[in-house]
Amino acid sequence: MSDTLMAVYNRPSLTFERGEGSWLYTADGTAYLDCMAGIATNALGHCHPALVAALTAQANRIWHLSNVLRVPGQEVLADKLTAACFADTVFFANSGTEAVECALKTARRYHAHRGNPERIDVIGFAGSFHGRTYGAMNAAGNPAYTDGFGPRLPGYVQCRIDALEDIRSAIFAPTAAALIVEPVQGEGGARALDGHWLRQIREWCSQAGVLLIHDEIQSGMGRTGRLFAHQWFEGCAPDIMTVAKALGGGFPVGACLATRAASEAMTFGSHGSTFGGNPLAMAVANAAFDLIRDAALMPHVLRIAARLSEGLDDIARRYPDVVSDVRGKGLLIGVRMVVNNREFMGLARDQRLLVAGGGENCVRLLPPLNLSAAEAAEALTRFEAACRAARAALPQAA
Ligand SMILES: *Cc1c(COP(=O)(O)O)cnc(C)c1O
Repeated sequence: MSDTLMAVYNRPSLTFERGEGSWLYTADGTAYLDCMAGIATNALGHCHPALVAALTAQANRIWHLSNVLRVPGQEVLADKLTAACFADTVFFANSGTEAVECALKTARRYHAHRGNPERIDVIGFAGSFHGRTYGAMNAAGNPAYTDGFGPRLPGYVQCRIDALEDIRSAIFAPTAAALIVEPVQGEGGARALDGHWLRQIREWCSQAGVLLIHDEIQSGMGRTGRLFAHQWFEGCAPDIMTVAKALGGGFPVGACLATRAASEAMTFGSHGSTFGGNPLAMAVANAAFDLIRDAALMPHVLRIAARLSEGLDDIARRYPDVVSDVRGKGLLIGVRMVVNNREFMGLARDQRLLVAGGGENCVRLLPPLNLSAAEAAEALTRFEAACRAARAALPQAA
């Protein structure tokens, strides 16, 4: 393999040449069932005809304008997004981490604008992931991502999800600006936070005047069976929310959404992007949004999710030496492994099943939202075959 790429990934030698729906094909035509979907990004599968049509039609009109000019697709998509959730305004970026940077900047500037420039602290949580740029990685605070990159930035506070008293003190500290949390922790291992916890945090943030940021980059856009995961629970809506991954159905785009009050300080000149929300991204994202909003899709997600988690629960019962337990929400499924998760991903690949890794020794199943019932059954068959192979590789009990 090439050594001219920075060695920041440890890739299998496999090469895919084309994709269709939930399947990826190597050059010799071997088909792999894709339950990774570009890490929860290809929410409508590969090469969905409506997305291909939207992209190619736009490619023949205008590729890029600059945000100093109107991009009509942005106005259309911002109207759709704000009509579907708590938010009033949207800033479009190219990626998840950029959406997070916009959220952090929006929160700090809100306080500065209101005469409280000392309010800079961003409260984040162990086991969270917000991206790889400096602000985002400091907000998540995972040492695996911050080590060796210089001093931790000032103004970032870390709490544990279960340390409610610490969280409360952090929120009521006079320097607190914002709290950022994923309603379902994705990279951390598909850990779904409960409605009681989310509501308590919402209440404390409101009382303290701290802005609540939900990072729905992985959990949003229908992944859990609602457009946004926090919409499962009454009274939990954030002030600011980040979205990316599935927003473009595989085309790079991210967004930071906010209430009008939370974004009041984001005035002319305070933020920007060359490419963010460019016409190609907007054409695909608008088409993806309309497909994800199809009335039949969320009930489908819940049906397929139930099938997969029941099947995986059953496998966990029958392979306790390989699988420990199954968790997550909707089609953001985490299977905690007894065997090493990275090795198991290789065994799954041997069965031509692609799954993602995750924290706490998880493998994640993040299939396209339109995975069929037959494909879900096939995924379970292949997952179990990988479990059999993992069991066969275990040292024999004495
Ligand atoms: C993937 C992810 C990000 C980072 O998105 P990029 O597009 O890789 O920058 C941030 N937050 C969450 C919850 C994610 O899952």
